[in-house]
Amino acid sequence: MTCALVVPAAGRGERLGAGVPKALVPVAGEPLLVHALRRALASGVVDVVVVVAPAGEQQHVRTLLSPLGAADLRVVAGGAERQDSVRCGLAALPEGVDVVLVHDAARCLTPPSVFRSVVAAVRGGAVAVVPVLPVSDTVKRVRAGRVVATVDRRELVAVQTPQGFSCAPLRAAHRAADSAAPATDDAGMLEALGHEVLTVAGDDTAFKVTRPVDLVLAEALLSGGRA
Ligand code: C5P
Repeated sequence: MTCALVVPAAGRGERLGAGVPKALVPVAGEPLLVHALRRALASGVVDVVVVVAPAGEQQHVRTLLSPLGAADLRVVAGGAERQDSVRCGLAALPEGVDVVLVHDAARCLTPPSVFRSVVAAVRGGAVAVVPVLPVSDTVKRVRAGRVVATVDRRELVAVQTPQGFSCAPLRAAHRAADSAAPATDDAGMLEALGHEVLTVAGDDTAFKVTRPVDLVLAEALLSGGRA
């Protein structure tokens, strides 16, 4: 049984406005990608790592990550959309992988326990597994600046990563995906093919660093020993 981790880290991170690719933005002195990978490896469930780096940054990324001591680390260049980057990562997997985790570098504080529970659920027979948290805001559907509906929040969850998959169905979903309407989430691609997606408990610290305020929160959690 071999578990591979694919880390899409090739985004430009324009909403963050840091002037460098988001995965390479430092928090508490280290890039987001280094924090993310350290926690993934600490889970003890990852055998192979494929990092999908911004074009031209592969050697730099390899140098940054080598001190973490991953047994099998592969670094490949990403594509225009997240979905393209994940596909590049899947193409670099070795033979014999049966479980794949896809984890955003931007969710840099996701604790090892979430990796373990996602892998356990896939090993227990699920084809696709996502960590989720309840939604705390009220969510409304809006068109042209006007509210058209208020969605019942009790039915909603926010979806995090790592998302876990049985390898063959994930590859098939990427082959079937529509590149004109790129998915923001891998599990959604399996849902579209009719696969059941199981949920496990996510974690507050697995938020995605997207806006400048998220960096402040990540920095505070790290310096306070809370992540
Ligand atoms: O842009 P967003 O925050 O949704 O990106 C989520 C993750 O996907 C980030 O870790 C980002 O680096 C990665 N990504 C990628 N290739 C892209 C766009 C995003 O690997 N073309």
